[in-house]
Amino acid sequence: MSLEQCEKYTDSALRVGDADRYPQRVAGEFIGVVVSNDWVNKEYKHLVLKVHERALGTYAGQFFHLLCPTPDGAEVWMRRPMSVYRVDKKAGQLEFLYKCEGRGTRGMGMLAKGDEFNIAGPLGKGFKLDPAWKNIVVLGRGVGLATLAPLSQLAAEKKVGVTTILSARNPDVVMSKDLFESLGAKTVTVLDTDKSSDVANVSKIIEALIADKKADAFFTCGSSRLLKLMQQLGKKHGIPGQVAMEQIMVCGVGACYVCMRTFEIDGVKTLKRVCRDGPVFDMQTAVGW
Ligand SMILES: Cc1cc2nc3c(=O)[nH]c(=O)nc-3n(C[C@H](O)[C@H](O)[C@H](O)COP(=O)(O)OP(=O)(O)OC[C@H]3O[C@@H](n4cnc5c(N)ncnc54)[C@H](O)[C@@H]3O)c2cc1C
Repeated sequence: MSLEQCEKYTDSALRVGDADRYPQRVAGEFIGVVVSNDWVNKEYKHLVLKVHERALGTYAGQFFHLLCPTPDGAEVWMRRPMSVYRVDKKAGQLEFLYKCEGRGTRGMGMLAKGDEFNIAGPLGKGFKLDPAWKNIVVLGRGVGLATLAPLSQLAAEKKVGVTTILSARNPDVVMSKDLFESLGAKTVTVLDTDKSSDVANVSKIIEALIADKKADAFFTCGSSRLLKLMQQLGKKHGIPGQVAMEQIMVCGVGACYVCMRTFEIDGVKTLKRVCRDGPVFDMQTAVGW
């Protein structure tokens, strides 16, 4: 079955019990069991789930749609989209890094070891690595770093060098540094507190990487101003790039069209569904927010 045919089955992903009819189906609904759910700082938690082996077949940049428990006894309407932070195939575990902010993620924050958690996925189109790329630059901010983190796994598998620029408000909320470094990536941290996260400084860092031939492709998530910077530098130096977009979602499988965003392709503005056509898109087509 071709990948394209497989993708067709994503629409039926939430139908339970059809695994026999569609053995090569790429997505499904799974019950994960919580291994741990710990705070990594004051705002973010790290959830580790033991899952069915089919849920482990996820690409960097894909996401799961999570049925979050209630934090207050009232119903939590709709699933919440969440990028896969890390896949541990040996241990049969999926990991998520998330910001505890609204009712869904606060409910998630209450999950304890041994609890069951309903997840649907893997969904969407993830990052792609061109075999010709030897070195890539990854630029993320805030929770965008959770989405970019699995690129480090993918790049390590393909023996691609990674420089990651981690942008954060302050040192307490710098995330994924350890994960990137443990997989061989070089990291540069830029902060609002010392103004090193200013666009002009980040631009200088990337220009130096380009001059050093360490930038065959760009990857970004989590900041409109950083997306614009990478688009400008990409255009100027002819460097391709990919961006992972975030958008409020309802169905997560392309049926409801709630997550439409504007893209510009060859000068023509067009609408695309972030859940199904993305969430990873060609960087130059994305219109910032
Ligand atoms: C593809 C994708 C991957 C994501 N990956 C991560 C991740 O790895 N870690 C993480 O912390 N966050 C991630 N987000 C954002 C995350 O989905 C929202 O923060 C979360 O849905 C907020 O839910 P809530 O109940 O806490 O907030 P609420 O404000 O109560 O949510 C209300 C509604 O808004 C939606 N919503 C709110 N903020 C966002 C947002 N930024 N993007 C999409 N929907 C939103 C929720 O789904 C819900 O329907 C991702 C979003 C997308 C689209």
